[in-house]
Amino acid sequence: MHYYLNLKNIFLLLALSLTYIILGVMSIQFVTMPSGIAIAWFPNSLLLALFLMKNIKEWKYYIPFFIVAEIVADYQVFTLIQALQFSFINLFETMFGAYIIKKLSSNDGAGFTNTKYVLLFFLIGLTLMPAMSALFGAIVYHTQIDTQTTFFEFWRIWFFGDSIGILLLTPIMVLLKENYKSLKNYDFNIQNISIALLSIYLAIVLFSFTDINFMLPTTPLLFVLLLLWIVYKQGVLPGMIMALLITSIAIYYTSSGLGPFSIFGLKGTTIYLQEFIAILVITTLFFGVLHQEINESKAKLEELNKNLENMVKEKTKSLMEANQKLNNLASKDSLTNIFNRRIIDEFISKETIKSKRYNNSLALIMIDIDHFKEVNDKYGHQVGDEVILSLVDIISKNIRESDIFGRWGGEEFIILLPETNLNQATIVAQNIRKKVQEYRFDKVGQKTISLGVSEFNSNDDSTVFIKRVDDALYKAKATGRNRVVSL
Ligand code: GH3
Ligand code: MG
Ligand code: MG
Repeated sequence: MHYYLNLKNIFLLLALSLTYIILGVMSIQFVTMPSGIAIAWFPNSLLLALFLMKNIKEWKYYIPFFIVAEIVADYQVFTLIQALQFSFINLFETMFGAYIIKKLSSNDGAGFTNTKYVLLFFLIGLTLMPAMSALFGAIVYHTQIDTQTTFFEFWRIWFFGDSIGILLLTPIMVLLKENYKSLKNYDFNIQNISIALLSIYLAIVLFSFTDINFMLPTTPLLFVLLLLWIVYKQGVLPGMIMALLITSIAIYYTSSGLGPFSIFGLKGTTIYLQEFIAILVITTLFFGVLHQEINESKAKLEELNKNLENMVKEKTKSLMEANQKLNNLASKDSLTNIFNRRIIDEFISKETIKSKRYNNSLALIMIDIDHFKEVNDKYGHQVGDEVILSLVDIISKNIRESDIFGRWGGEEFIILLPETNLNQATIVAQNIRKKVQEYRFDKVGQKTISLGVSEFNSNDDSTVFIKRVDDALYKAKATGRNRVVSL
């Protein structure tokens, strides 16, 4: 408790109590009809707003202050016992109401953010609880204070007064706490200002009118349209503030006996005015929050869409990468990472077609390591693999980038040379043979290779082409190895 009750909070509690008393005095002084009936009873709107905004655990700190405030406000009019009864009735009405609204909307934080919350507020805060507490209030009034007026009359006055007060101020208080930043950034543009001024001007003209032949009591309902426009363009809080302004003007003139509601008797005028306020503010609040809700779900949908788009983009990218990897895997030999036989076969088919079509020269070199079995037998398979890797490295460094190099079989390799004739290919083959002969392989020392070379002939197909280069290689082997044979 001492943790919570610091100086700042005590000051806040005192300020709230004072506001409670001022709202009571305001209700009696300014919002009362000549008959003495209060059109709106404001103090309870502060209680309900506070309980709606505050965490249920904190409620207990406010209760004593409001009991004292009620006693102070009632000091000259009612006895201490009556004041205590009133304060308990008011606390019951607002605390129980706030509790049910919070529980049913499963919302212990921000209020008036969705239509479900607004409907619960209408049902519980505006109807059920004021009607119930009005029962107790009417009992106190009817039995202890004024036995002349009927019980039902007291009930109605209490019920409607509380409802109107809560309707006018509670949503504004809660919305102000949550949206005061948006109000600070309020856009004072010409449209917003002129519609506000127009509303105030129309309210003054309409409610101070004395010639009732010119106007029906339903004419002021036109303000619903103006308020809906404000809510649509500017949001629920500016709409509610404008509704409060129009309502204040209506109360001010009607309680002075002016305006379109004055044709009814004293009681009738009050009820008509209260109905008008209820329709105006309920419509503004409900459609304001509905509009806000629709906008929020629209924004959510847009964000969801954006996220989805990004997700699809990312997935597509990773899919393309995976595809690339897969392609690589399918086209490369696993030991040497040069093209495998399947792909080389495809290249040969394609290049022979191109060569026929454009009449370009095309050459093949086939390579086989001499006496490779010995390496495996003497040093093991592992060393044999390393020889193959070194050989691939040598060959790669001695061909052009446009040449297509692949592994044909175990220790057989193939090079496809586009736009290269037999002579040029033979020079390349000789160069490679020499480079290998000069090379000293790790552990193994010198190894030689035999090479067959062949040029594509436009009468050939790729099978004949490959067969000829194979024959050339065979001839190289047969005529002593470590040599190039061109066919
Ligand atoms: P030559 O070509 O000079 O007639 O004699 P060779 O001993 O090289 O005979 P051949 O070309 O038939 O050699 C095939 C041998 O190459 C059989 C096998 O042990 C070895 N070999 C094939 N693929 C691999 C491989 O991937 N790794 C290793 N270490 N050896 C392989
Ligand atoms: Mg071989
Ligand atoms: Mg061999």
